[in-house]
Amino acid sequence: MPTAHPCLSCGACCAAFVVAFHWSETEPGAGSAGLPAELTERLDAHRLAMRGTWAKRPHCAALRGEVGVEVECTAYAQRPSPCRELQAAWQHGEPSPQCDRARAVYGLHPLTEKDWNGDL
Ligand code: SF4
Ligand code: SF4
Repeated sequence: MPTAHPCLSCGACCAAFVVAFHWSETEPGAGSAGLPAELTERLDAHRLAMRGTWAKRPHCAALRGEVGVEVECTAYAQRPSPCRELQAAWQHGEPSPQCDRARAVYGLHPLTEKDWNGDL
């Protein structure tokens, strides 16, 4: 039986860091085109942030569920570049300090290759 994708029972990186990106990512034809404006907030003259991540206790407005239990990104198809670029540790055979750091915030163990057994 395949192992469930570890990110679906995590979501820590969606509730640990500011998720900032250039405003042009939401323009038609760009990678995050169609990202609902209400899920973003202006960070500065050139950048947007996912709403809720530019906060003392970050929590992306697109994240549903409970971190460390069961989560869903409600904007998955339109998620911005930082979300697309952040690799889960060992998913593709490489470490990911960002993933490890985010999980540590929630007391979750760093992923190992064993967490992906049966999923790939
Ligand atoms: S847009 Fe989705 S993947 Fe990106 S931080 Fe928010 S919930 Fe996480
Ligand atoms: S912290 Fe790592 S395991 Fe958790 S959702 Fe983000 S990439 Fe996936």
